[in-house]
Amino acid sequence: MNADLDTYRDELRSWLAANLEPAPVGGSTLLRGQIHYTVEGIAEERKIQKRIFEGGYSGITLPTEYGGQGLSAAHQQVFNEEAIKYRLPNFGVAGGTTHGVVLNTMLAHASPEFLARHVPKILSGEHLWVQFFSEPGAGSDLAGVLTRADRDGDRWILNGSKIWSSGAYYADYGMCLARTDWDVPKHRGLTWFAVRCDAPGVTVDPIKEINGDIEFCQEFFDDVELTDDDMIGGLNDGWNVARTMLVHERGGTTGPSSMPRAAVRETKRRLAPDLVKLAREHGRAEEPVARQLIAKAHTNDYVARQLAGRVMGMLRAGAKNGAGLAAYMKLSQGMFGAERARIGVELGGAPALVWEPGDLTGQATAITYLNGRVMAIAGGTNQMQRNGISEQVLGLPREPSFDAGKPFREVLRDAKNWSGSV
Ligand SMILES: Cc1cc2nc3c(=O)[nH]c(=O)nc-3n(C[C@H](O)[C@H](O)[C@H](O)COP(=O)(O)OP(=O)(O)OC[C@H]3O[C@@H](n4cnc5c(N)ncnc54)[C@H](O)[C@@H]3O)c2cc1C
Repeated sequence: MNADLDTYRDELRSWLAANLEPAPVGGSTLLRGQIHYTVEGIAEERKIQKRIFEGGYSGITLPTEYGGQGLSAAHQQVFNEEAIKYRLPNFGVAGGTTHGVVLNTMLAHASPEFLARHVPKILSGEHLWVQFFSEPGAGSDLAGVLTRADRDGDRWILNGSKIWSSGAYYADYGMCLARTDWDVPKHRGLTWFAVRCDAPGVTVDPIKEINGDIEFCQEFFDDVELTDDDMIGGLNDGWNVARTMLVHERGGTTGPSSMPRAAVRETKRRLAPDLVKLAREHGRAEEPVARQLIAKAHTNDYVARQLAGRVMGMLRAGAKNGAGLAAYMKLSQGMFGAERARIGVELGGAPALVWEPGDLTGQATAITYLNGRVMAIAGGTNQMQRNGISEQVLGLPREPSFDAGKPFREVLRDAKNWSGSV
């Protein structure tokens, strides 16, 4: 591939025109829960990703030994600018998890052998990944996971359950956090493994959500066999890996991107024209209360965009406390998302809640409202972002903990024997 950017752009334009469909009119961004992703539908998306990979346009900045193109961020930018005009693969939430969170975390921590085995399959669309992180009893308290991987000769045997895994029913692998040492404090006995979603002993059960979709899943692991080759990062180094993952999950990705995600769209993030349109459609553009609401959403959007730009700049410049800084962006989305969704319903009124068939604006407003709390919970709640900012950025004392320094086995034993008296 010619490294000259103009030539690169010309060749790319020809390739795109010959190989991909134009983007649907009005863009192809779908709201979470607006459509249900099926295994068959995802198979079609995988074909598009494969074509992009075979054309040499997947993983543009990633190392060639892992199936990437070894080119610069400027090449990626050219690709983003041109490719956005075409119909790109849509893998739903699992696409963002795979290419934005899991891949970047792997690149930072997995062994070269692991990366050579798995990254090309991600870049080609053959494998989608999800996070097996949360458990029924371990959400905010991430290090409290009870899913266990026990040594058995040269194998590991995985048992336990994960929950809220977005898109697991159509994914191929889960990046799974398991306890591998019970005799050290809880943060020090954790290890990440690659677990195939269809491995013997893995059961994936979808869960119905308020937005009508069944995108979440709960997994049960019954004597699932793993090996050292499945490890992502070192034995018992899981907390360190988790911290990297949280930076990416909170939107702080500054590293290479493996696919033309919504990079261009993000820079054009909405500053409330959708709400202006909604108010006009409902004849409310002249109402003082409606105008106040729109101006509020607009300024919140503006603040969130500026904040994200500033934090990303600091992360790109190598700021320490990546997870703490990324928490600002996550918190702003968690706070403003719910408020914006409510404003949409206030402006849209009844048709925004019970829309007529074909009324896409009504449908989008209602689904956005039902999704309004997503960013306040997913990837760490608003309260946990505030805890992170206060401790990691402001240097306030850590919140009191009864279990941080104790071997985890003792924590569980004490909890079991606790009588309720102090
Ligand atoms: C849309 C969505 C997608 C998700 N996708 C995934 C996924 O793909 N993979 C995955 O593994 N997980 C996923 N999750 C799970 C998510 O990470 C957890 O729901 C989240 O971390 C909160 O954990 P919890 O639900 O157990 O709540 P809890 O931890 O039980 O929290 C309950 C309440 O207590 C508060 N709280 C708890 N501890 C503290 C504290 N120390 N200080 C102050 N307040 C506290 C919380 O803020 C919250 O308000 C997803 C969740 C959602 C909503």
